[in-house]
Amino acid sequence: MKTVRLNNGVTMPIIGFGVFQIPLEETQAAVEAALEAGYRHLDTAASYGNEEAVGAAIAASGLPRDDLFVTTKLWIQHAPTGSVEDDTKRAFDTSLRRLGLDHLDLYLIHQPLGDYYSEWRAMQQLHTEGRIRAIGVSNFHSDRLVDLIDHNEIPPAVNQIETHPFHQRVADHELMRERGVQIESWGPFAEGRNDLFTDPVLSAIAEAHATSVAQVVLRWLIQRDVVVIPKSVRPDRMAQNLDIFDFALTDDQMKQIASLDTGASLFFDHRDPAMVSRLGGRRTD
Ligand code: NDP
Repeated sequence: MKTVRLNNGVTMPIIGFGVFQIPLEETQAAVEAALEAGYRHLDTAASYGNEEAVGAAIAASGLPRDDLFVTTKLWIQHAPTGSVEDDTKRAFDTSLRRLGLDHLDLYLIHQPLGDYYSEWRAMQQLHTEGRIRAIGVSNFHSDRLVDLIDHNEIPPAVNQIETHPFHQRVADHELMRERGVQIESWGPFAEGRNDLFTDPVLSAIAEAHATSVAQVVLRWLIQRDVVVIPKSVRPDRMAQNLDIFDFALTDDQMKQIASLDTGASLFFDHRDPAMVSRLGGRRTD
């Protein structure tokens, strides 16, 4: 498996398996099938409510811990104990217990909302104590990312953001390169929105390589050094989504895909006040 090297030297498989929106009762079987298909990088979150099922699949696989790269995410902490830093450490312990692990490979702040500076300070400590190999963020626009970097000791290793052919994040990606932050795509297929799987440009490129549109999209992302975590509940698609290393897109095909960028989210805007309040008000504890 191709890997990327994070800013602290940790290596991360460029393809992982995402588990958002898999029905809870199907999650363990899906993760077991993904591990069977060859995935060694898993992406979950406290807010997905399925860390225990992911942990059960890891245990059932019998794979050595060091062969796996496991990411989970911290939901917005509301300081019931009066200290967001203490709550962050508690939330981390809870996630680790649910996953049945003694350390995490990557822990992300899920949303750029609430007192994430306190959350980051707690995560820096957990990292320094050796309990998390790399710490990062998700859904951070470039201005928030730079502010976090400039006012803390440890820069995020990763920023996981919506990235797909219709929202390509070119300027954000460039800024992340300059600042040494690895870009990771969520929603690589835009969850099929905008008719991605039948898009004429992507379909023509897929036909030229005798691949699927899904494979073209993932290939396009990894050729741009973007880490991907596609989700599927179907073993045939899990295998297909890993099978993207025996063809390459030409410069012209990369340019054709570049032309699909709309520069806007297909999901929601983290700068929309109504969305900020909606997400910020959500409790997971
Ligand atoms: P994706 O863009 O990965 O799309 C998933 C959809 O694509 C499913 O409907 C799946 O259907 C379908 N699909 C998968 N593979 C294929 C294929 N080869 N051919 C045709 N259809 C296919 O959406 P996600 O939102 O799940 O994003 C991926 C991961 O990113 C998440 O699981 C999660 O881990 C992470 N994420 C993080 C967020 C954040 O805020 N940090 C937000 C959203 C996601 P089926 O399952 O039936 O195969």
